[in-house]
Amino acid sequence: MNDYVKKDLKYIWHPCGQMKDYEELNPIVIEKGEGAWLYDIDGNKYLDCISSWWANTLGHSNKRINEAIKRQIDNIEHVIFANFSNKPAIELSEKLIDITPENLTKVFFSDNGSSAVEIALKMSFHYNMQKGKTKKRRFLALSDAYHGETLGALSVCDIDEFNMIYKPLLLDTIRVEGPDCYRCKYGCNRENCNAECFESMEKSLVENHHVISAIIVEPMVQGAAGMKIYSQIYLKKLREFCDKYEIHLIVDEIAMGFGRTGKMFACNHAEISPDLMCLSKGISAGYMPMSVVMTTDEIYDCFYGDYNERKSFIHSHTYSGNALGCAIALESLKIFEEDNIIESNKGKGELIRKLTNEKAQALKYIGEVRSIGMITAIEIVKNRKRKEPFPWHMRVGYEIYKIALTKGLLLRPIGNVLYFIPPYIINEEEIKFMVNTCFQSIEEYFMKISHNTWSVY
Ligand SMILES: *Cc1c(COP(=O)(O)O)cnc(C)c1O
Repeated sequence: MNDYVKKDLKYIWHPCGQMKDYEELNPIVIEKGEGAWLYDIDGNKYLDCISSWWANTLGHSNKRINEAIKRQIDNIEHVIFANFSNKPAIELSEKLIDITPENLTKVFFSDNGSSAVEIALKMSFHYNMQKGKTKKRRFLALSDAYHGETLGALSVCDIDEFNMIYKPLLLDTIRVEGPDCYRCKYGCNRENCNAECFESMEKSLVENHHVISAIIVEPMVQGAAGMKIYSQIYLKKLREFCDKYEIHLIVDEIAMGFGRTGKMFACNHAEISPDLMCLSKGISAGYMPMSVVMTTDEIYDCFYGDYNERKSFIHSHTYSGNALGCAIALESLKIFEEDNIIESNKGKGELIRKLTNEKAQALKYIGEVRSIGMITAIEIVKNRKRKEPFPWHMRVGYEIYKIALTKGLLLRPIGNVLYFIPPYIINEEEIKFMVNTCFQSIEEYFMKISHNTWSVY
């Protein structure tokens, strides 16, 4: 065993997994990245089909971004953001205000997605307290939601694997059953959907609106739920009801912002303006921990006043407004513009969709292929007709993931959902390799189990 691997196993506690698994599937130590590819210390290479946890938009070791960092680091790496500021943070704020929905006029900086969610929740609550609406102190979130894993953010999450044990520590969030288009209870499909499932939201709002401060949603796609894509009509209705009941709408664009769904921001599909918007992941092109919360004059003004009025929002993170992160974000947005990224993604997304659908036809274990923009997900089921999942302990996704690794593909399935969320710089040849190799891995897995588990069905 390589020395680095030995030391990794000895010293490091990795996120989001069982460390015992690492003894069988050793940590893969990456030495170098280029474009959509990662190279490990043993000379193997992997196509990064998931943008290193949905963050890397423009490829690894992107030359232009590397240069931007080098330019910035010779000026200032970081400076306290209280009372001090820096050029990249100012330029980035101006740019973000320009490209986000119109009513978002203020930018609050932080350094990771979960913190951005905490900030948005706190701002909303604090606003209502200051407005004297002291009953409005709860949050509403959807079933299967994911918003990060610090305690506040976890409170609005609804994924057992992350939440369950911590329930006694969490806020009392109002939970509404969200859209589930693959297993639609109203018998609709994506073409004829009119967000009938909004019914459960409406019912809850009629009942609870006077105690709700904010509703938080992942617009268009619930990522960690298994890339559950839903209709923009749902978001339109949500905006209407939030207005009606004076509830803040928080859109968590942490995963879907910056072009992932085919538009710059996912809420653009519904042409709505949120009251608070959380951005992270793609904002810094997968280079640096960085996030922002954007909000309106209405909310900002509520905190504005004389020092003695004690209205300020006293929330701080050491690395707020980090100059390197902001320089990266600025360069990334420049590349988006100059290389027409959103437009050129259209053909790429289309190709991934087309190839995936073609391959999926022949396989009886594929329940649904769902896709939007630069996301294509494949849900594997035991029975296509009944949409019945494989039992979780079979770890179907994980087993396929392991096979794919041996073929040079980095997938990271969520349960039984495999998905492609590649960096936008992926080319046609790489797309073909990605889809073909993924399906080879799926087939290999089912061949392997057909002698035992599979024959049961
Ligand atoms: C990743 C993610 C978060 C949390 O961001 P971290 O930087 O991992 O804390 C929150 N919301 C959504 C939708 C995410 O995808």
